[in-house]
Amino acid sequence: EVGMNAQDLGKLLHREPAEIVKKLFMLGVMTNQNQSLDKDAIELVAAEYNINAKEKVHEDISDIDTLYDKRMAASKKSKHQTKRPPVVTIMGHVDHGKTTLLDRLRHTHVSAHEAGGITQKIGAYQVRVDNKPITFLDTPGHAAFSNMRERGAEITDIVVLVVAADDGVMPQTVEAIDHAKSAKVPIIVAINKMDVPGANPEHVTEQLMKYNLIPENYGGDTIFVNISAKTGENVDELLQMILLQADVMELQADPTQKAIGTVIEARLSRGRGPVADLLVQQGTLKVGDPIVVGNRFGRVRVMTNDRGRQVEKATPSMPVEITGLNDVPESADKIVVFDDEKTARSVGEQRAQQALQQSRENVKHVTLDNLFDTM
Ligand code: GDP
Ligand code: MG
Repeated sequence: EVGMNAQDLGKLLHREPAEIVKKLFMLGVMTNQNQSLDKDAIELVAAEYNINAKEKVHEDISDIDTLYDKRMAASKKSKHQTKRPPVVTIMGHVDHGKTTLLDRLRHTHVSAHEAGGITQKIGAYQVRVDNKPITFLDTPGHAAFSNMRERGAEITDIVVLVVAADDGVMPQTVEAIDHAKSAKVPIIVAINKMDVPGANPEHVTEQLMKYNLIPENYGGDTIFVNISAKTGENVDELLQMILLQADVMELQADPTQKAIGTVIEARLSRGRGPVADLLVQQGTLKVGDPIVVGNRFGRVRVMTNDRGRQVEKATPSMPVEITGLNDVPESADKIVVFDDEKTARSVGEQRAQQALQQSRENVKHVTLDNLFDTM
């Protein structure tokens, strides 16, 4: 349990800590502002104020998944919501051109030529069309998408399904359709390799209609675009269609609150320590913010955008790389900004301890299972 003192309690109840100490004194509890309070004392004070304090005090702040969900729900009701860029994952059968498309987008639209700009891989990048950003997750394929989902991370708004015009629907195409459908994420079909002599987009379209992906001219509402990732043909059209789909979805976020987000990738850098690539989903993440990331904690020390530029803040749907964590988190970990570093640290430490205990218990189970196996 997080040790709560009069100061913490004051913060929760929006009262001065001195007032809490005085109140406790009148209730017969001698304490100062920093001393940990027991449950009874907390409940006594809570009852005095009678402002839903009981629920507040017993809210387990170490449960950051719940905290994340609550903040997500609150932001979705907020009147401060504004439009946010869509987050896109590219999926499709092997060799149908996912990597080629991602590379083309990165090189033609994320300016590597920009003076001083070092394009670096940070797990995601933004492309700007008429100054409207689109965020692309840089890991194509299904494993990344399903790993994220299994861990409760739903960061993709739109799936671009790449299908080669000379190969058509293949097993992983169907798999991608299934993934997107179960995640309730709309699909935009990009029929790729239109430059290849054997390209047959009509045939591909017919195949896809069997999976309920019906283009508009057949009475459906799925967007189809014929492209060549290799030559760049119609890739701009694809980007326009992504923006159109995003408009239909009315994607919004509240940039005014404390940030929540999700880790895309993380690693240990020799010179910089733990580094995490993350996507801000609600609120604005700022340098100096105390954060809990999965079972890790810290303060945002250096924040870098997808062009390798240092930034002071990151708004919704923006991918950034951060340093300043005590250890390397995992992909799909939730990020929650806290009011102060002390709370972030105690929550992070508590979570790390719980995880350690859990893994010890798992080891115990395994050992027992093994024992039974050999009996
Ligand atoms: P992935 O497995 O889906 O990531 O596919 P890749 O992007 O690695 O592409 C597989 C092969 O198809 C590579 O040799 C690409 O150069 C080629 N390729 C990708 N897109 C196109 C395209 O639009 N036209 C042609 N002709 N070849 C392409
Ligand atoms: Mg690839």
